[in-house]
Amino acid sequence: MEIQFLENNLKKLKLFTILANLEPSLIKAHKNKINYDEFLFELTDVEVKTRADNRLKRLIRDAKFPIIKPIETFDFNAVPDLDLNLFKGLTTCSYIKKGQNVIFLGRSGCGKTHMATALGLEACKTDFRTKFISCFGLTNELVEAKEKIFLQRIVKRYSRYDLLILDELGYIPFTKEGAELLFQILAERHEKKSTIITTNLGFGDWTQVFQDENLTTALLDRLTHNAHIINCTWQSYRLKQTLKQNK
Ligand code: ADP
Ligand code: MG
Repeated sequence: MEIQFLENNLKKLKLFTILANLEPSLIKAHKNKINYDEFLFELTDVEVKTRADNRLKRLIRDAKFPIIKPIETFDFNAVPDLDLNLFKGLTTCSYIKKGQNVIFLGRSGCGKTHMATALGLEACKTDFRTKFISCFGLTNELVEAKEKIFLQRIVKRYSRYDLLILDELGYIPFTKEGAELLFQILAERHEKKSTIITTNLGFGDWTQVFQDENLTTALLDRLTHNAHIINCTWQSYRLKQTLKQNK
């Protein structure tokens, strides 16, 4: 048989990794007298692994993390007050399967964005469609989509992510319109899809940001129902590092 025929089929089936590995694999199989089943397994395994690897890369790229900060770069010794059982539990992503939310609450510099990003990367590894965006960025995107048809499309897109990470709620107050649109997305996601929020605001101060009291109550009700709340009571990591260096 002409090898060309086999190569053509592999091209038609879009099995490009197998195609690229075919010749060396055939040579190796002949030399080592490898069984057909073992040969086929090895060849398809590379294709399967390459596809999984590409998919992970695509998920991470699409999530648009500002910086890639995996869990391995987080120093747990620096945060003795963190509920380790809770956090390690979150890294398994079972909260995403249950459509639960996570709220990181605490002052600037204590690692909220880092932890949220680390959980986002774990979500990508578990094959969940993830999106990282600042609250300000999201409301801007919504407000700017003036025409109803575009707006609906954006709301739909953000409602579909398995995990939405909303960073920095509370740093900049919303306009009434922005708050209402954000509420729409969070209401759509409620109990179906997970949202992680990082904020420097205690729940009592949310009305300041959302302005409307009824809206804030409705929003908090949905967000905190069945949510994991991580209260970051510790000092800023950055500040601690600076103080250490200056000693
Ligand atoms: P926040 O979002 O709470 O303001 P960040 O997550 O941006 O804080 O953290 C500030 C900086 O300190 C970042 O560079 C972050 O990677 C780093 N950092 C914070 N906590 C830790 C930690 N426990 N281990 C390693 N780096 C940390
Ligand atoms: Mg932050």
